[in-house]
Amino acid sequence: MLNLVLFGPPGAGKGTQSNLLIAKYNLIHLSTGDILRGEITEGTSLGLEAKAIMDRGDLVSDEIVIGMISSKLDKNPNAKGFIFDGFPRTSAQATALDILLDEKGTAISAMLSLKVEDDELIKRLLKRGKDSGREDDKNESIIANRINEYNNKTAPLKEFYSTQNKLSEIEGIGSVEEIAQKLNSVIDKL
Ligand code: ADP
Repeated sequence: MLNLVLFGPPGAGKGTQSNLLIAKYNLIHLSTGDILRGEITEGTSLGLEAKAIMDRGDLVSDEIVIGMISSKLDKNPNAKGFIFDGFPRTSAQATALDILLDEKGTAISAMLSLKVEDDELIKRLLKRGKDSGREDDKNESIIANRINEYNNKTAPLKEFYSTQNKLSEIEGIGSVEEIAQKLNSVIDKL
């Protein structure tokens, strides 16, 4: 299986690049942000609980997102592989993911980490807020909180995967196609 963690701060382009990668490599896209927004749209109790947290730019509990990923893995027993987008975001999530995959006789193949400067992230997110109306992209202090959460709790996961010799860092500035090519060339060497 080809199991990729697509990594990077909010606004780094994980969703855009995931969409290209799932088509090229025939993978299943698991975005915890998308799954949570789906729960909000459906008005489930989980969605209701998550919405307040997401609107503040805080992280949803490990227990909730790990449960969501576990059930998606179970629902796709014949997948060729997965792209994890926006997950894991904490060391508890990364440890849980390793265990879940190990139980299925597989593992993470690589973490592809997109590098983008804070100024550029803020610009991109504010534009997405205008275009898509996503609540957490509209306000600069919420964006700052998300970047802060990323720096404090999520960025350290690079070390976790680097220790496993699975980390590749890719410059996330350039055209969508240029970045896609860089990702493809890393994946094709796996
Ligand atoms: P972005 O990468 O732009 O922040 P996401 O769609 O990945 O967007 O996440 C939006 C929000 O959903 C996060 O700010 C957080 O509140 C919640 N969320 C998504 N994935 C996770 C996760 N793995 N752990 C905790 N919270 C998450």
